[in-house]
Amino acid sequence: MEALFPSYNDPIVSILLLLGTIFAISVISYAYSLWKQEQKSKELQRFLKSFDSNECLLDTKSMPFEKGMTKPLFLLALAYEKSGEYAKAIDLFVYLIHHTNDNSILLHLASAYHKAGFLKRSIKIYRQILRNFPRNKEALYELELLYEKLNEFDKAREVLEVLDAQGEDVQKEQIALDILEIKHSKIPKEKQFEEIAKIYSEQEHILALRELFLLDPQRAWGYYSESEFQKIVDILWKLKINMVDLDIISKHIPLQQLYYVKGVIDGRADGKSGIFAIDLLASAKAAGDESADLAFIYICQNCRHSYPLPFSRCPNCHRVYNYKIEVSIEESRKESGYSLQ
Ligand SMILES: [Zn+2]
Repeated sequence: MEALFPSYNDPIVSILLLLGTIFAISVISYAYSLWKQEQKSKELQRFLKSFDSNECLLDTKSMPFEKGMTKPLFLLALAYEKSGEYAKAIDLFVYLIHHTNDNSILLHLASAYHKAGFLKRSIKIYRQILRNFPRNKEALYELELLYEKLNEFDKAREVLEVLDAQGEDVQKEQIALDILEIKHSKIPKEKQFEEIAKIYSEQEHILALRELFLLDPQRAWGYYSESEFQKIVDILWKLKINMVDLDIISKHIPLQQLYYVKGVIDGRADGKSGIFAIDLLASAKAAGDESADLAFIYICQNCRHSYPLPFSRCPNCHRVYNYKIEVSIEESRKESGYSLQ
């Protein structure tokens, strides 16, 4: 029998066996990847069917597709989205995904649905993306925002946990979510203050301190420290005069300077506030000129968009509390102060 079969000790047979095994594994893995790709494509097409609409503004159903059209149509869809024509953008994104099976366009489709106000549809698409790409951070951040908008706080928290597990710094998002949930709850304002004060004591994040001043300025002074002056200077400036704590002012030079300019106290501070516009107004006031006032601009550190009002999330890029307060001088409106509440 041994004469019929070559010996396994023969080196040529061993090499042939090895090459044969490698070839078989390569063929099987290639076939598997093709099958997997096919399954993903079918799944995507099935998923898209749920977005087929009879209300298409564009006649995409009878539009023939050519590969060279992909980029121009994609750019056109982005232009529609930018100009607020979300229905047309959605039609084109669906058309492109249908013909190209390009999963990356799903992110644009989800974003267009979000901007058009179809939050649940947008969630559905982001979840579909995460089914295939569970670590896609853009989809995770957007999903968290959508759950937050729908007041589904537990689901939003679960998404943040996934991001946290991926090493993302989501402390701000977690604090913002906790505060939002507290404010959304039916508990009395006093209790809300206590809950947020607890967050501030544990995490010392400025977002929590700003909320404390908005809820109850008189109690919030108990948590004030000079290092936070520049981050809440807008709130301090707009406090009603009866909400100002004169004892604390007497101990902090930046506060003395601010409230001297505002006219709450008479004596000018023996030092500077650290904010050029305030110090300039203090000098002008000391010289008898009270024709100017402070103005505040909030600049997002991520997208650089600026706004006249503070925001917990940037209206443009949706980043949580990511702004820098720019203090400038404007003509006085002769106001005695008003509350931000
Ligand atoms: Zn922004």
